[in-house]
Amino acid sequence: MQRLQEIDHLRRAVNVLIWDQNTYMPPGGAAARSSHQATLNRLAHAKFTDPALGRLLDALEPLREALPPDSDEAAILFWVRRDYDRSRRVPEAFVARAAAHFSQLFQAWTEARPQDDWQAVRPLLEESLRLSQEFAAFFPEHQEPLDVFIDHSDPGMTAARMDELFRELREVLRPMVQAIKAHPPVDDRCLHQHYPVEGQRAFGEMVAACYGYDFQQGRQDLAPHPFMIKIAQGDVRITTRYREDDLAIGLFSTLHETGHALYEQNIHPRLADTPLDHGASAGVHESQSRLWENLVGRSRPFWEHFYPRLQETFPDQLAQVSLETFYRAINKVQPSLIRTEADEVTYNLHIMLRFDLERALLNQELRVADLPEAWRARMAEDLGVVPSNHRDGVLQDIHWFSGFIGGSFQGYTLGNIMGAQFFQAAMAEQGPAIQEEMAQGRFDALRTWLTERIYQHGGKFLPDTLIERVTGRPLSVQPYLEYLQRKYSELYDLSTVQAGTPGD
Ligand code: ZN
Repeated sequence: MQRLQEIDHLRRAVNVLIWDQNTYMPPGGAAARSSHQATLNRLAHAKFTDPALGRLLDALEPLREALPPDSDEAAILFWVRRDYDRSRRVPEAFVARAAAHFSQLFQAWTEARPQDDWQAVRPLLEESLRLSQEFAAFFPEHQEPLDVFIDHSDPGMTAARMDELFRELREVLRPMVQAIKAHPPVDDRCLHQHYPVEGQRAFGEMVAACYGYDFQQGRQDLAPHPFMIKIAQGDVRITTRYREDDLAIGLFSTLHETGHALYEQNIHPRLADTPLDHGASAGVHESQSRLWENLVGRSRPFWEHFYPRLQETFPDQLAQVSLETFYRAINKVQPSLIRTEADEVTYNLHIMLRFDLERALLNQELRVADLPEAWRARMAEDLGVVPSNHRDGVLQDIHWFSGFIGGSFQGYTLGNIMGAQFFQAAMAEQGPAIQEEMAQGRFDALRTWLTERIYQHGGKFLPDTLIERVTGRPLSVQPYLEYLQRKYSELYDLSTVQAGTPGD
């Protein structure tokens, strides 16, 4: 535990550097900051792959059987053993080669994207694909290369399982998008007036505090790409960004990152400084950001309480706008080019596109050179909109241009699916209390339920185990589809749409 704590401290120090880099660091600090981070990461990696740690793990092996399987100690041994064996399989020279390549690619992408210059990054992306395949080959026990990367961020999940979940979702979402497109577009001009930042900040932070985000153990700052980061149990920070001509961007960024932060702030204090002091997986983490952003923060009961307060904050802009008009505006569905700005209904189609393309790349069924065309074809097929440039197409996301290809997108959709399943279970058990509180702008019952069932355990359970424990059933798309159908049938009068009933 002493050795693991030292490694943990090095990684937390890296987090402080990352937070600063993305908030207050002057541009002149960039080059030095990268090498500072690289040094700390190298030290942490060397400590973690030290054979002495392996010998300690071996010595503890006989103890594992004797430990209660649900104990923290058993979980710590399981996860540390798993991570140690993985890290040891990847040669140091490969790690260094890959890190150097990814930093070169990221730099090239930050310059190529504004200039729409696909050809500048194409050869580098081809090298990334080779590196990704080489990395995957260190783990031959997996069915296909993508599984290696998925298992890293969403343990226990596979490409084949994701494919099945996506198929069930697609069957419902594509006709739903088509049906919504047949309606006249929702008028969301009320969101695009002039909204001074100060009012936006005050309102967003007030809601975050009502959710239960503790500003004594956190803070909110500005960042171009909002994120949540944990420095310590008592220091969980969030970031947001504001646009004075778009009220929704800042507000829902804040609510999203607050969801991530509530998870981290409510991990049990006894797990602080242990390898379990983090969320269970990318998908489970995203389930909490989506739950607080969408299932709560874009719901009618939430706005019945908070809309009068928002009107008080922005009387000139909203006094004449009805709750109904505002509610429809924040839930407007419109196929668009940009994933991060997509609504709840079209969002997952953006994810499926990326998932299928990266799977095809890794399985050598698609060449990097053909990626832009494959992107356009799929956008046309699923969303009916096609980017006229690379910037809003294949160059759009940071993920393929800053690390291995694969594994970083499925967590978003898993989050949507899991969030709805968790929320449905919470409502089944505590519905009246949760609703009664929400009508008064309070969320103690919901947050307490989530803390008891999910947050306090940190990274102790495998996601599949956690879902079964919390909801009494395996992962299922059904609660999420029911939620979308109920909400958007009402908003768009989709009573005539017969969506398929996917297998449960
Ligand atoms: Zn998120």
